[in-house]
Amino acid sequence: MQRMAAWIDGGTRPIPTPNEFSYWIGPMTRRTRTAGAPAHQYRLMPVNPHAHLFEVELTVVEPDPEGQRLALAAWIPGSYMIREFARHIVWIEARAGARAIPLTKIDKHSWQARRCSGPLTVRYRVYAWDLSVRGAHLDATHGFFNGTSVFLSVTGQEDRRCEVELLPPPAPIGDDWKVATTLPRAGAPAYGFGRFAAADYDELIDHPVEMGRFTLSTFKAAGARHDIAITGRHDTDAARLTSDLSRVCALQAKLFEPRGGKAPFDRYLFQLMAVGDGYGGLEHRASTALIAKRTDLPWAGMSGVPEGYRRLLGLCSHEYFHAWHVKRIKPAGFVHHDLRSESYTRLLWLFEGFTSYYDDLMLRRAAVLPAGDYLEALAGTIATVMRSPGRRVQSVAESSFDAWTKYYRQDENSPNAIVSYYAKGALVALALDLTIRAESGGQSSLDDVMRLLWQRVGKHFYDESGRVSATAKGIDEGDMPALIAEATGVDLSAQLRQWVEGTVELPLARLLDRMGVSLTLRRADHAGAALGIRVSDAGSRLKVSTVYTDSSAQRAGLSAGDELVAIEGLRADTATLKSALARRRRGSRIELHAFRRDELMCFDVEIGEAPESEARLVLSPSARSPAVRLRTGWLGAR
Ligand SMILES: [Zn+2]
Repeated sequence: MQRMAAWIDGGTRPIPTPNEFSYWIGPMTRRTRTAGAPAHQYRLMPVNPHAHLFEVELTVVEPDPEGQRLALAAWIPGSYMIREFARHIVWIEARAGARAIPLTKIDKHSWQARRCSGPLTVRYRVYAWDLSVRGAHLDATHGFFNGTSVFLSVTGQEDRRCEVELLPPPAPIGDDWKVATTLPRAGAPAYGFGRFAAADYDELIDHPVEMGRFTLSTFKAAGARHDIAITGRHDTDAARLTSDLSRVCALQAKLFEPRGGKAPFDRYLFQLMAVGDGYGGLEHRASTALIAKRTDLPWAGMSGVPEGYRRLLGLCSHEYFHAWHVKRIKPAGFVHHDLRSESYTRLLWLFEGFTSYYDDLMLRRAAVLPAGDYLEALAGTIATVMRSPGRRVQSVAESSFDAWTKYYRQDENSPNAIVSYYAKGALVALALDLTIRAESGGQSSLDDVMRLLWQRVGKHFYDESGRVSATAKGIDEGDMPALIAEATGVDLSAQLRQWVEGTVELPLARLLDRMGVSLTLRRADHAGAALGIRVSDAGSRLKVSTVYTDSSAQRAGLSAGDELVAIEGLRADTATLKSALARRRRGSRIELHAFRRDELMCFDVEIGEAPESEARLVLSPSARSPAVRLRTGWLGAR
């Protein structure tokens, strides 16, 4: 405890000399996977939870004799936006033995150390108050971090083995804290603080860490131990959650490995933060970090699959599928990430879109979700795409490439300018799957394509040590037509050109009909639909959030941000707008008053026709047996 108190004080503890180092870090223990001494040693402590500060000490055993450079990532794999995590480093210093080594900051995320001989030790503090799956978060209730937020990389030595010692926060806060991570242990007890190891920097940042008083549930599936660690107050029916997830996990492993059904990891961890409001997940090679509403968690006595629970299961299924598809089967440009700047690919429709297609489909096929509920979720995806005029101007390949500046940085014009590579990508997967099933008489499906991708590039992506294998390769942008033909015998190159590179509507109604499922589109009935606007009701203010391209509202001059104050001389609210439009015929006009900035403006708007953007899917009662056979192959029995 004495040592820990000194550590908490930060500036007061003497940095150990190289000779003392073995005492500091402790004797080496048996390693789980790789041989040889680590080149870098990290030590991380939640030094001041109330100030949200992690302190990290990094010792570089063999620094560059010309002066070592260190850097923090600008983004985290799986979330395609420049986030510049180094802005949260609030203090940093370096030493070699007892000697202070000057550090010069050379750009927004890199430091250059003056040349020195012998081990270089860098200490720094990271402000952690980002409650998202992408960053780091620390208070007296828990700590969570991604390696990209806290571990400086040693430039030129990223491929070298490293060791991490995780320490608890000061007493009494950390007295009953545990650790949940899939970072390979190198001495730390199960769920305890202590030493961990990683084959290289890539592995180090791919196992986020949760520490605190989480609840733990465990199940076995696909030959692997699975843990669910839930942080935050909750009253989850753990038996229901483990029962449902174990079926989904086993089925996904069997999709890729029909013989044996073994997952490509021995342990998997769902790290879930339960909050009042929030939603998100980030995939890793053997774990996923999730944020969800606590009311979405299953409770004792819950019947059926409420919408919130469906959303949570879909999120878990999505991130789990990524353990194969994007963490091992990858776009060629993602095999080795450059974390200093954007990594471009035109294939996110394949990696995020296909994963979005399979997430709910796996729930259905595992019989966790009834067919009706699955079709309702799928209809929701169709509606999402139909609501975006952006689908007519941007292809999913373009949307993938521009994820960094468009999908991840949405604004009021995004519905007009972009299409989601998640939602439309999922519908492209659906259209491909249904086409393959129909063309092959049910003999082949998109599952065969996934299995070929897995065998071709995914299965051996990592070597035994946990490194990206020397022969690893990814999927090139032009590979898919030939791979689909090879896996299924069906040539879909023309469809891929149109659906992926083009902006034509997908022929979903026709394809679904061949499966005995009928799709009907209905006109939107939300307030403002007949004017071509979306409104949001914030407090007592009715604001225009989006004006759709070529709508009557746009022709009349309304803009996003306008605050509607009167509709035909009456105070504006959602109900007034809805009823005023319902009582007027198409082609008639309506007078709207709105504030833009602080200026009152009047708009005379022609009432148009609401777009067909609501979708409904039902099993056709009159479907013939060939269609029913195809449908059963697609959705699973019963
Ligand atoms: Zn995803």
